[in-house]
Parts: sequence; C-alpha cells; structure tokens
Amino acid sequence: MNTKPILYSLEPFDLAGHRFRITLTIPAPSAKGQIVSLPAWIPGSYLVRDFARQIETIEARCGAKKIALTKIGNHSWRAAPCTGALTITTTVYAYDLSVRGAHLDQTHGFFNGTSVFLRAHGHEHLACELNLLPPVRPTRWSVFTSLIEAGRGSAKTRRHGFGKYRAENYDALIDHPIEMGTPQVARFLACGAEHELVFTGNIPNLDLKRITQDVKKICEAQIKFFEPETHLAPFLDSATRYVFMTMVTGDSYGGLEHRASTALMASRKDLPVIGQEKAPAGYETFLGLVSHEYFHTWHVKRIKPAVFAPYDLTRETHTRLLWIFEGFTSYYDDLMLLRSGVIDRKSYLSLLGKQISAVWSAPGRHKQSVADSSFDAWTRYYKQDENSPNALVSYYTKGSLIALGLDLTIRQATQDQHSLDDVMRLLWQRYGRDFYLGAGQGLPEQAFVKLVREACGVDISSELTHWVESTEDVPLKKLFAGQGISLTFKSASKLPSLDVRVRKQGEQLVLATVLEHGAAHQAGLSAMDTLVAINGLRVEASPAALDTLLERHQVGETVVVHAFRRDELLEFKVRLASPATLTCELKEVTA
Ligand code: ZN
Repeated sequence: MNTKPILYSLEPFDLAGHRFRITLTIPAPSAKGQIVSLPAWIPGSYLVRDFARQIETIEARCGAKKIALTKIGNHSWRAAPCTGALTITTTVYAYDLSVRGAHLDQTHGFFNGTSVFLRAHGHEHLACELNLLPPVRPTRWSVFTSLIEAGRGSAKTRRHGFGKYRAENYDALIDHPIEMGTPQVARFLACGAEHELVFTGNIPNLDLKRITQDVKKICEAQIKFFEPETHLAPFLDSATRYVFMTMVTGDSYGGLEHRASTALMASRKDLPVIGQEKAPAGYETFLGLVSHEYFHTWHVKRIKPAVFAPYDLTRETHTRLLWIFEGFTSYYDDLMLLRSGVIDRKSYLSLLGKQISAVWSAPGRHKQSVADSSFDAWTRYYKQDENSPNALVSYYTKGSLIALGLDLTIRQATQDQHSLDDVMRLLWQRYGRDFYLGAGQGLPEQAFVKLVREACGVDISSELTHWVESTEDVPLKKLFAGQGISLTFKSASKLPSLDVRVRKQGEQLVLATVLEHGAAHQAGLSAMDTLVAINGLRVEASPAALDTLLERHQVGETVVVHAFRRDELLEFKVRLASPATLTCELKEVTA
C-alpha cells in the first residue's frame, strides 16, 4: 500500500492579476481514474461557496505526458487512468479579501487551503508536503502560518521562510491558512506556549506592545479555564505555535477559526496607537473578536458536533447545535475579557446589555427557535435579506443568552457549587482534548442535556427544551434578580420612530428593513423604499439627518412620508411611534 506523501506546490506568480499556480502530485493515483475536488465550503462558515469557480485553468499530466481531465461535478474532476505519478496544475484567481477565501496582490498574499488545494479522493489520510514558492518580486516577503516547517534545518531557523511545510493529512493541510508579505509581527508566550500576532495592512504607529499584553492575558485565562491543572495549550497537538493573522482595512470586521490559528479582519480605527493613553472605543470589540476566535480552538475546532467529525466538504451538513458552538463561544468571549482583567465589571455588564438588546429588538425571535436557526444556517442565517430581522433569530446572540441563562440557573440550583464552566470542561475532556490524537468523536445531537446533568448534577431538560426548541425568551430578569442585578428595558431613544432600519445608498436614504408591526409597516411602507420627504421636508441621505427631521415631531403625531418605490412616488400617512427597539440596562443592586 502506498504511503508516500501527497505533494503540493504553490506559487504566487501573478500579483497584479491575483493568481496563484498550484500543483498537486499523487504518487500512486487510482487505477480507475483519479478523482480530485475542491471543497464546496470552508469549516466554520456555513455557506456553499463553490471555491472551484475561481479555478481558471486546470490540466493533468501522467509523468511528462498530458492526459485527459473530465469535469464530473461543480467541484470535481476525473483524470484519465495513469500508471505512475499524476500531476494536476491549476491557476486560481485570488481576489476575495475576506477570512474565508484567498487574496493576492502586490502588498501581500493570503489563502485558505480550501480555496487552492485539490483533494485527492481516496488519499485524504496520507501526509501532505507543501512547497511554498516565493513571488519573483517583491523579494522580501516572509511566511506566517501555524503549518509546520519540513525539510532540512530546524523549524526554528527556517521559520517564516518560503520552502517546505508538512501536514499530517488533507484535513490538516486545509486548516492552516497562510499569510505572506511584510506584516507587523509580535510574539509572546501564554502558559509557555508560543503565540504570534501578525498585522497586515498600512497601520501607522500600531501599539503592538499594548495589544500583545492584552491578548496574552486573554489566552492565558482561556488555557487555564479549560486546563486548570496542566495549563496546556490546546493547539500543541497540531502545531508548535498559534498565529493570529489580522488583515487591517479602513472598515472591516470578522474572523474564522482554525486548529492552531485564526484569520481576522479588523478596522484600523479600532486598534490602539502608540503614545495614545486611551485606546479607541472599538478596541474592546477587537479584543472580543480575538477572544471569540481563540475560544474556538477548543470549542468548534476540537469539541464539535458529531456530524462534523469528519467534515463532509462536498455538501451542506446540518446540525441543530450551532447555538451551543457559536452561542456559547459568544457568551464566553466577553466573559473572558472580564476574567482576564482586560475589561472591568461595569464594561462587561454594558456589553451584556447590548447583547440582550440585540436579541430583544428583532421580531424574528418570535418565529424561529435557535435549534431551527442552527439547522437552517446554510439557507437562512448565511443568506440574509431585508426581511431577516423579522424572520430569523441569531444562534450567536440568542445562543449566548441561553448560555447565560444556563450558567445562572446552574449557579442558583447548586448554591454556586457548579456553573456552565463545569459543562465546558466536561465537553472538553470527553470530546475535545483527544480529538486530533485519537478517535475524533463529536458531540451527538441529543447528548447535551445528559452531559449538563453529569457535570453539575442538575436536570435542566425542561428549561433547555423551552429556550432551544421554542421561541420563548430566556427569563433573564428573574435569573439576574437572583444574582443581585437588575435588568430593565427602555426605548432605545426618546425620539419618535418609523421603526425601520435605514441605509445610505448613493445620495439617497433607503429602508433596509421595515420592522414588523412597527409604524412604517402599519402605514404601508416597504423595505427598499427610498425616503424622499417627511411633511414636505427633504430627507437627506444619512440616518442622523432622518433623526433630526423626526426630532421636530412627537410620538403619536401623524406625518406625511413621500417615498419612491421603484420609480413611482408614493405617499403614506405614518403615525409616529415610540421606538420598538429596546435598550437593556443591567445594574448591580446594592443591598
Ligand atoms: Zn464563532
């Protein structure tokens, strides 16, 4: 049986045209005709993205001889039978500046393996070797990845260089994204394990020292949380270091988790500047994102739904559990900022209040459960439109409130002897710790309630079924009262409201969403309508200008709104309401 590694090479050969050239060499291809394919989706982002559509050219050679390659599906090809090594060469267009794809230009290159590395069917278990080739120009680029260096010389001396890397199998190869270029880099140890912060983009006077101090605290808090005795970092099963690779632009936000790294997008304005005593307001958001993706190193990358072990990247895979994976991560991301001392209790309660407000302000929470939202992630959460706030609930935000409700319920039922922390640690011990070392079992769809009982001795099945399978709100007011915290809702603003979400489109203000049962809905306005005037005064193209117009009126007053629908001018009589959008305030009650 063949055990020779599968060989890949990747060359950024056309920076201005955004093209990588990739070769795949299979030493012992299938005698019946080797099948190769590119994943249809990338783990962690539940949408079929058809990465293969960016393959511009593809050809197969058996030794030196060109052989036929037949397309047999959206993402797959079959090569003509070949005795001896089969080499397939592709060129891939890479101009998707997101954490999910691949991007190449004169300033840097970034790619996920799911965008560039073909899978050799039947050989997925074999080790992979990657030869990473530098661009001809510029000549000073370095490489940043959690993929392990291979070939001659010690990994340490060849760190950040072009050349050979290795992965234990195809699943690992596509789970270590690679950044190349001349980024700003900082390094730190957390619980003795090496971490790298890599920032790509033009970011003058980036305060790397401050970021390093804060991120180190977050990482240490999380490592000690999951491994209170050993303080062992989770990624050492797959890599020698963890890499945060952040692409910085004027305005962006997002992240995607991997087994020993994360790809992030951040806004320049959210990052601290050397010499400025106070960090920008958005810095907390950036740290929250870092905390979120790092938490996924345990929870999603190792503890995962059974249906994701292993991933089937050829088609959608459904689970009703994303509320546990994204929701609980969204609960712990901010909580870890508090526990690590990066933010104080007051800031934490304010973040929690915002999360509660976000859930309570979307009418869709009365229509969809988080279990259904998880299952339908592929077709609904990841394909949002103007009506989504009326129709969907987010398994992230409501999932985080369920985690909060569960945490408070367990604490109160056990007189603070147990908490959700015990559940997370049991999940880790049972499904996560040995995931890449052993059998790789995931969490079965029905196993969670039993696991909570085992971890805490509390039966929460009736509460959980209610919160997860129905559209009931989590009774947070009652639960917080037991903790000496008051929860109050008030209208988001004192101004009268149309109960719409607006967006600027060119020089016009468009209704992005008309909230169900709100003032605009009752009057007959629709999403996509372009606001023209309110009581004869022109609506300028900014949300603030709309507020200024509304300020001249009272709740309960009826105004005449002119709006274009398509190119037809329509008139509506709108009875202004108090905003349906609510703000949640959490306050400690002093006895
Ligand atoms: Zn996440």
